[in-house]
This record gives sequence, structure tokens and C-alpha cells, in this order.
Amino acid sequence: MTERKPEGYINGVPLHPESLMMGYGYKPEWSEGAIKCPIFQTSTFVFKTAEEGKAFFELAYGLRSPKPGEQPGLIYSRINNPDLEILEDRLCLWDDAEDGAVFESGMAAIATTVLAYVRPGDMIFYNEPLYGGTDHLFRCVLSEFGIHAVPFPAGVPNEQVEAILASSEWRDRLAMIYIETPANPTNALVDIEFCRHLADKYAPKGREVVVAVDNTFLGPLWQHPLKHGADLVLYSATKYIGGHSDLIAGACLGSRAKLAPVKALRTFLGTMAGPWTGWLLMRSLETLKLRMTAQMKNARYVADFLADHPKVQKVYYLGHLTEEHPQFALYRKQCLAPGGMISFEIVGGEAEAFRFLNALKLIKLAVSLGSTESLAEHPATMTHSDMPKATQLAFGITDALIRLSVGVEHPEDLVLDLKQALDQV
Ligand SMILES: *Cc1c(COP(=O)(O)O)cnc(C)c1O
Repeated sequence: MTERKPEGYINGVPLHPESLMMGYGYKPEWSEGAIKCPIFQTSTFVFKTAEEGKAFFELAYGLRSPKPGEQPGLIYSRINNPDLEILEDRLCLWDDAEDGAVFESGMAAIATTVLAYVRPGDMIFYNEPLYGGTDHLFRCVLSEFGIHAVPFPAGVPNEQVEAILASSEWRDRLAMIYIETPANPTNALVDIEFCRHLADKYAPKGREVVVAVDNTFLGPLWQHPLKHGADLVLYSATKYIGGHSDLIAGACLGSRAKLAPVKALRTFLGTMAGPWTGWLLMRSLETLKLRMTAQMKNARYVADFLADHPKVQKVYYLGHLTEEHPQFALYRKQCLAPGGMISFEIVGGEAEAFRFLNALKLIKLAVSLGSTESLAEHPATMTHSDMPKATQLAFGITDALIRLSVGVEHPEDLVLDLKQALDQV
């Protein structure tokens, strides 16, 4: 377990993350006794002496190693800010990570992390389908910089994944394995431990291959990729971590050594979150477990209802995987709960799906996910609309597919809404 601050323990026993979200990493005496960390809405920080300023810069720019017990000082809010540092300390507790960095968006976290590790000529091996923004970054932006992104399908046997990597013309330049599991929108899983094995087996001589996992769908409650061999965990904190559809943010967590180049590049790209976003995320973290647990329970209730409905053809929900399913063993190894995301196919096609979506009253018709309110959307024409039709179909994204992000409403009200909307189709 990662070393914590003293308040992380009682009599040497580490406390659970949810017990620490209200105060960890903050001392009321820093702010006139205020129980809550204030918003440090400041661009720069005053040094006590010129010598102190010099010492802070020496550490920040890595000009020397810290002396025993020496902490990096506050300099300028693009480098560090108390709202970000305290938030990072708290985020680390859920994934048991040594270090973390927060960003102004999930895409900022992903782009900064990838650019910290990948160079022209290198290859990124990644699973499809991937979040649309990341997919565009890999295929349309990084390709302009001579970076090769090679996809493999989520949900296929490990031998098939290895065969694709082994036969790639750029395999000698493998730099990163980048995965998103469960994959959006069908909840297909990728084996994190096996990706670690591939990263080590196919690492070019003298070079480490980084395994990065976008854990937005199940994390930080229901999946801990670092425990399965990942080097870096990425989040769109806009989703479950923020949880209220009122902010955009991202995070990257991992070992201190693996975070060092990410944090350094964040300083120079300027992709860090602002103090106000940091403060809002700390407020959100206090109820993270309550929200994600309620969403997970509600999702099971909703998925069970959908599975029995005559106008529903197919339900993609991790909690319905049975022992005979090829992904069941992987689900049990890697995931702690099925989470709050469900996709389902309505009987019919786009017309029926749209009639259903337009009839919803309580559930909002919107993209994004992980929020307190339930959201519904149509992947084929919305989140996944820039995918070629054949690729969509290969991943089960049909015109009849609807994605639901289940919120914290009363489960009977959610089912009431789904039922009346299905009745109108
Ligand atoms: C939303 C999302 C992102 C991008 O995050 P932003 O906060 O919108 O920049 C990345 N990955 C996944 C899985 C997402 O759902």
C-alpha cells in the first residue's frame, strides 16, 4: 500500500478512502480554522525570502533532489495550487496510487499523458471502440506527428490480441498500450493483466512500454487497474468523479516515477485544472461512494426490467454475464461490481429508438455519463457517429442501440419512465 499522510491511519490501521474524503491532506489551521479547504483563487504565491523562492524552483525544475522531509513549495498555479494538491492526494486513495495529476478535462489528461510517453515513429496499441475524442486524437492528430496507432477489438480472446500486435509492422517501436475497459457502449472487457504481459514481452530493447487504462466507466470504485499491472490510470473526472454534470475535468494516477514526466509536461502545456474545478471535485469526492453505490444498485434494477421487456431485444450489462459467457472469468478477476452503465437494443431500428428517446420524461436525453441524473443517448448517431457504419456494426453499435447512464433517482421512477416510453414505441 502506498505511503499515506499520518491522518490516513488510526493506530497504524489504514482508514477507508470514504472516511478520508472530507479532510485528508488539509489542515484547518492553514485557513483560520475553516473546516473546509477554501478556494485558493490565486495565480501566484508569495515567497518568505529569496532563498525560499530559489529552493522551491530548484525542486520544481528538478535541479536537485529534495532534502529529507523537504516538500515542494507553492510557486505559481500552473505548477501547483493547494486545491489541486489536496484533491490529488484524495484521488490517490481510491486507486492506492502514489501520485496523481488533475487536468482541466479528461482529454487534457489523456493528451498530456500520451505526449509525455510517445515520440514520432512510435506505436500505440489500443483497443476499439475507444472514447470518440481519444479515437480522434490517436487516428487524426497523433498520426500527423508520425505516431502510429494500431487497434485491436475489445472483447476478443487474448491470443487474438497478441497476434495483432505480433504481426504489426511497427511492433519494434511499441511505446504504449492504451486501453479502455469496459469499452463504450457495449461493456466489452479487455484483460489488463494480459496487456501488462504483452507490454513486457514486446518492449523494444532498453525501453519500457507503458500500460495506460482509461478507467472512467467503473472507477474509482469498481475497478483498480494499478492492481492488475497498469502503470497509469486515466479519468474523465467529468463523469463519476465530478458526478453532477456541472464541470469538465480529468486525472492521471500512478507511481511517482511514472507521473513525473506527465506532471512536467502538464506544467509546460498548461493543461492543469483551475482551483475552482479542484474545489468542486473535492466536494464531489465526499459523496463518490454513496453516489456510485446507489447508481450501481439502480442499474441492476433497471437492467433486470429491460431484460424482461418484450420490446427489448438485447441488454449489455456486466451484472448479467453468466458463467458460460467468455468474459465472465475476466469480469470476476478485474471488476468489483457491474457499475451503472447499460446499453440495450430496442426491437426495431433508428425510428423506434428515437421514438423511445423522445418519449422519456424523467431520464434526460444527453451524452456524458456518471452523473446524479440518469441520461440516455443513441450511440450510432451521437457519441459514435464519426465511426464508419461497418465498424459500428462490428462493435454491436446498431441503429436500435440505446445507452443509459443510471443516476441516483428512485429506481421505481426510472422503471416507470422507461416503461411508459417503451409503451409509446
Ligand atoms: C468523457 C470521456 C473522456 C473525455 O473526457 P472529457 O472530460 O470530456 O474531456 C475520455 N474517456 C472516456 C471513457 C469518457 O467517457
